[in-house]
Amino acid sequence: MSHSLFLLPGDGIGTEIMAEVEKLIAHLNASGATDFVTDTGLVGGCAYDAHGAAISDADMEKALKADAVIFGAVGGPKWDNVPYDVRPEAGLLRLRKDLQLFANLRPAICYPALADASSLKKELVEGLDILIVRELTGGVYFGEPKEITDLGNGQKRAVDTQVYESYEIDRICRVAFDLAKTRGKLVHSSDKKNVMKSGVLWDEVARQAAKDYPDIRFEHILADNCAMQLVRNPKQFDVIVTDNLFGDILSDAAAMLTGSLGMLPSASLGAPDPQTGKRKALYEPVHGSAPDISGKGLANPIAMIASFAMALRYSFGMVELADKVEAAIAGVLDDGLRSADIMQDGCRQVNTAEMGDAIIARL
Ligand code: NAD
Repeated sequence: MSHSLFLLPGDGIGTEIMAEVEKLIAHLNASGATDFVTDTGLVGGCAYDAHGAAISDADMEKALKADAVIFGAVGGPKWDNVPYDVRPEAGLLRLRKDLQLFANLRPAICYPALADASSLKKELVEGLDILIVRELTGGVYFGEPKEITDLGNGQKRAVDTQVYESYEIDRICRVAFDLAKTRGKLVHSSDKKNVMKSGVLWDEVARQAAKDYPDIRFEHILADNCAMQLVRNPKQFDVIVTDNLFGDILSDAAAMLTGSLGMLPSASLGAPDPQTGKRKALYEPVHGSAPDISGKGLANPIAMIASFAMALRYSFGMVELADKVEAAIAGVLDDGLRSADIMQDGCRQVNTAEMGDAIIARL
């Protein structure tokens, strides 16, 4: 069965790392393992140059119709002074909003060959495989009122509003429970119910949803303790589900347990379509467009390729193939191949295309 992929390479190293995914897709299609039909659009600064918008309506339409969107990275100094509404990041924000991507999945996997590169002791991170499921469209980043008021006495007051409705908590928790079924069957739900009303509701709804998943172990953990435990003993976790703010912070902390930005994939999922059961989804590396290394062949394509592997797993149910791609990544690292950002003594430095080729050869 054929599946459609809409590729949005974006700016800077986005185009370089997407080229490696395109090679991989061509390889998988040629081998008969997949039948992907791809189309490519513009997002970010390049879209602004072409259309005066961070993503055109026509490309937005294509993103809405595709089975999955594969996104590179956007931005760069060239567009630092463009109007706020059409700045490169606005393209990504519009995609997230229009595709209603409320669940952000951030895995933190420690490849054995890179265990020494972590800032934690090797034994704490070797074999680490955790997944942070962050609520992406609600909470304090979007709640109203959100303002700074001049009090007229030389003082100002700033207000952000942390707001969640139960349906928002329920749907993100169910994503976490469903994912845990395919992994270690353990979910930690993280909030600050000791000091926040939104945390009290979060915990109440999470526990209620957990009742529908008797085979999943459910644990509550306060967000501050979760941060501490992530650096004390990260392997105790399997899936962590949390709100937008705590998820932002905890996922970055977890990510750095495993090394470079160039290694970190992510997925953002929407609600399943009531008719087809398919979810809208966007897959992207965590890093940005890295203007400092763009055009030099220095970009590490692993985060991008691992994001594509997440698409195989979560949008297309191709779990075995996703496992193989991830094993190929681990394999080239075992072989001692490194891009510049993860270079270690005794290893061989390769450029972006050589890394992509080596992963395909391993497959
Ligand atoms: P960045 O993630 O682009 O780069 C941070 C550092 O990590 C740089 O030194 C870069 O060279 C390195 N790096 C990042 N990805 C790498 C890779 N794949 N291989 C090797 N090294 C890599 O963040 P920044 O420098 O703060 O931002 C640069 C631009 O990217 C800005 O315009 C910013 O707005 C944008 N940005 C975009 C996204 C996105 O598209 N999702 C995310 C973050 C930043």
